[in-house]
Amino acid sequence: MAESTAVKLDPRVQQFLEGGPKRLFIGGEFVEAESGKTFPTINPATSEVLAHVCEADQTDVELAVQAAERAFAVWSKVSPSDRGKLLWKLADLMEANLEALAQLDTLDNGKPIRETRHADVPLSIEHIRYYAGWTTKIHGEVINNSVSPNMLTYTRREPLGVVGQIIPWNFPLLMLSWKIAAALAAGNTVVLKSAEQTPLTALYMAHLIQEAGFPGGVVNILSGDGPNTGAAIVKHPRIRKIAFTGSTEVGKLIMRESASNLKCISLELGGKSPNIIFPDADFTKAVPGALLGIFFNQGQVCCAGSRLFVHKKVYDNVLADMSSYASKLKQGPGLDHSTEIGPLVSDEQYNRVSYYLNKGREEGANALIGGKPLDGPGYFVPPTIFTDVSDEMSIAREEIFGPVVTALPFSDEDQIADVIRRANDTEYGLAAGVWTTDVKKAHRVAHALEAGTVWVNCYNSFDASVPFGGYKQSGFGRENGSYALELYTQVKAVWMNLD
Ligand code: NAP
Ligand code: MG
Repeated sequence: MAESTAVKLDPRVQQFLEGGPKRLFIGGEFVEAESGKTFPTINPATSEVLAHVCEADQTDVELAVQAAERAFAVWSKVSPSDRGKLLWKLADLMEANLEALAQLDTLDNGKPIRETRHADVPLSIEHIRYYAGWTTKIHGEVINNSVSPNMLTYTRREPLGVVGQIIPWNFPLLMLSWKIAAALAAGNTVVLKSAEQTPLTALYMAHLIQEAGFPGGVVNILSGDGPNTGAAIVKHPRIRKIAFTGSTEVGKLIMRESASNLKCISLELGGKSPNIIFPDADFTKAVPGALLGIFFNQGQVCCAGSRLFVHKKVYDNVLADMSSYASKLKQGPGLDHSTEIGPLVSDEQYNRVSYYLNKGREEGANALIGGKPLDGPGYFVPPTIFTDVSDEMSIAREEIFGPVVTALPFSDEDQIADVIRRANDTEYGLAAGVWTTDVKKAHRVAHALEAGTVWVNCYNSFDASVPFGGYKQSGFGRENGSYALELYTQVKAVWMNLD
């Protein structure tokens, strides 16, 4: 292994990790779980315990909902401008704590520090700032009705009340930011559950939320697992909405459970996104783009470009270039400056991805590079490119959520119908990529793909202003931009008779 260039631990991180179990954040205070239960959170680079965290159950969820209800009475009356100022202040505090947040997300999730410093944390800060700007721009409209000139009709956009938010482990801080920013901008209060694998940055954020001066109970942060804490949020009769990011399987469960009191729901679920390289692509962009599409965040990305369609004319060259780059990626602990690809988040995820590596070989695919999980400590799986894959194999159909891409040649000449049919032949529809220098073809393909996001000559681009969400079983509802405000407001029509 090359010489270690380990990052020096930020004293704020050290201090945060020391001491007793990390406490829940309810009603603006840090409290232990009523049951006294805790669980460990693991550093996936070493398999060692990072910290113990209090585990919320139904009783704590009830207390959090009560706190959020009390806070709603206050928060929904805070002026839009003051709500914006608080969000902006939170973003400033995040900026002042950028290194600590980056290190904590890296420690808890495993992702490289160069990503948390330059992607996760800055994107999270921008996200909060973007919605700070929206607080003063949420409004209804006056409607020109046909009933009578003396009948005034107008709409108001009102918050929903207490919203429940359940986030995954793949972008712990960013997913929290996506969830809370729009909800708070619109005047809701929040009960959020982090993923049990990555509870730390959410609790660090709780300190910043407190320091920023949000009224107690506006944001409540609970740690715990899905079937216990998560299910109690989903079932809670006075929570008005659930926003969920995670697996399609749990998304379906949440949809069923939310029927109990007809909660509004938005679901951002799994994917098996096609990334299509045409023979007229600019390969200096397409090859790095395809690599970024699958290996960013160790492939643990809902919109990962995991089905790589490459035109047969350029297939051998593209695959040779990709293998050459990918085999040089430096894999190691996230908290090393030079690491380009870290460990997977947990032993569970390591076992899941290992299962698919075996399955791929059993089904007759060939691992051009990678293909075998590494021995511990830590949950490392090398970048893997499978060739000799058919569309029917489970590695080409099921979400692996690891650094594993299936390369699929296609051979349409001028026609694009066949590759589009194959790209769309999936239950998912989160994202897709297209690489071509032919602008007409780019638009035709972008329009024909069944996906909530299509990237042309780029991949994994994100911005707070651009909507993100799924087609088909990748979910519904759009986060980001003005679209997310629709998830967190309800429209009231007011009729006023002036006669
Ligand atoms: P998951 O179970 O869907 O977890 C996502 C979130 O939902 C976590 O906070 C989880 O809690 C919670 N949850 C689980 N069961 C729940 C329930 N019955 N009621 C309420 N909340 C519940 O995903 P996972 O098990 O971590 O990962 C499995 C697979 O899901 C991955 O391999 C990947 O394919 C997919 N996934 C997709 C995304 C995405 O961004 N779309 C993100 C993560 C995973 P706990 O984890 O704390 O138990
Ligand atoms: Mg962890």
